[in-house]
Amino acid sequence: MIDRYNRDINYLRVSVTDRCNLRCTYCMPKEGLSRIGHDDILKYEEILQIIKIAAGEGITKVRITGGEPLVRRGVTEFIASLRTIPELTDISLTTNGILLETYAERLFEAGIRRINISLDSLNADKYAKITRGGDIQAVLQGIRKVRETGFSPVKINIVAIKGFNDDEILDFARLTLDHPYQIRFIELMALGEAGIENNGRYLANSAIREQISTLGTLQAVNGRGSKDGGPAQIYRLAGGAGEIGFISPVSRHFCHSCNRLRLTADGHLRACLLSDDEVDLKGPLRRGGDNKEIGELIQKAIARKPRQHQESCNEGHIKKCMKEMPAIGG
Ligand code: SAM
Ligand code: SF4
Repeated sequence: MIDRYNRDINYLRVSVTDRCNLRCTYCMPKEGLSRIGHDDILKYEEILQIIKIAAGEGITKVRITGGEPLVRRGVTEFIASLRTIPELTDISLTTNGILLETYAERLFEAGIRRINISLDSLNADKYAKITRGGDIQAVLQGIRKVRETGFSPVKINIVAIKGFNDDEILDFARLTLDHPYQIRFIELMALGEAGIENNGRYLANSAIREQISTLGTLQAVNGRGSKDGGPAQIYRLAGGAGEIGFISPVSRHFCHSCNRLRLTADGHLRACLLSDDEVDLKGPLRRGGDNKEIGELIQKAIARKPRQHQESCNEGHIKKCMKEMPAIGG
């Protein structure tokens, strides 16, 4: 599926729920979301059908996300069912890790190997503050469990927030000296209502990189970012066991190589995270649309994929994107 800007669209991120067992201040309002009624959330059979059709149109990689994917009942069985789609070469998961200790083995059996875990602080009190009540011990036990179970790579996502975790950058980076994690720093984006919280808290990855380079030479891990089709610039501290990634959607947007589509929890296809332009798949599917019709709608979404997101990103604030991250699928 080559779009009009010559990008090969082969990656689908799927939000299986907009609900979450945390309330990160930069992502959710404190009362939570759950704006999507029970009937409006796609059923697993519907998601499976859409992914099958998308695979027929050229999707080879799927990431399961949310909201928190592990809070939706039956998610491991659903993930296992994706193995029936021969075109898929890569099925991965993004999670906050709170339920990982319980689910790690079942996820492994279901076929997941690549896992991203969000952890914005290494300090228990700060973690509880940013997540509005999360227990860091649960996440740390989850991380231990995924390593024991054999997942690889294990990536740890940190959203860099000025005045919150900028004093922990070196502690995170040092973890890669002894552990085979990929520690990834993500620039804060101002999205939806929670975006108001984010104003003025954005921290550019260039500043983080500068701090980390005081620990040693950052060696580029050649070609990895591009081979993954991923947006991260990846480095290793000389002699380190793990890697350090920088994902810079604000200061260095990667729209020119963006290969993604997003299936929202309420069944819409979104070609750009930061544009509210969506194509409804759920309506046509529930009205009995056949695979050909749904395939054409997928192509329509790709045809509308913008060249790049709004210019205002450069100021660290992204306008116009009114949907919250958990529903879209971060
Ligand atoms: N609940 C899971 C988790 O936290 O990993 C999966 C969904 S979450 C929306 C996916 C990723 O998006 C997380 O790494 C989270 O930190 C990131 N994220 C959420 N809001 C963000 C924002 N405003 N700017 C940058 N990253 C954000
Ligand atoms: Fe939940 Fe993930 Fe958003 Fe935090 S970042 S509120 S864990 S969906």
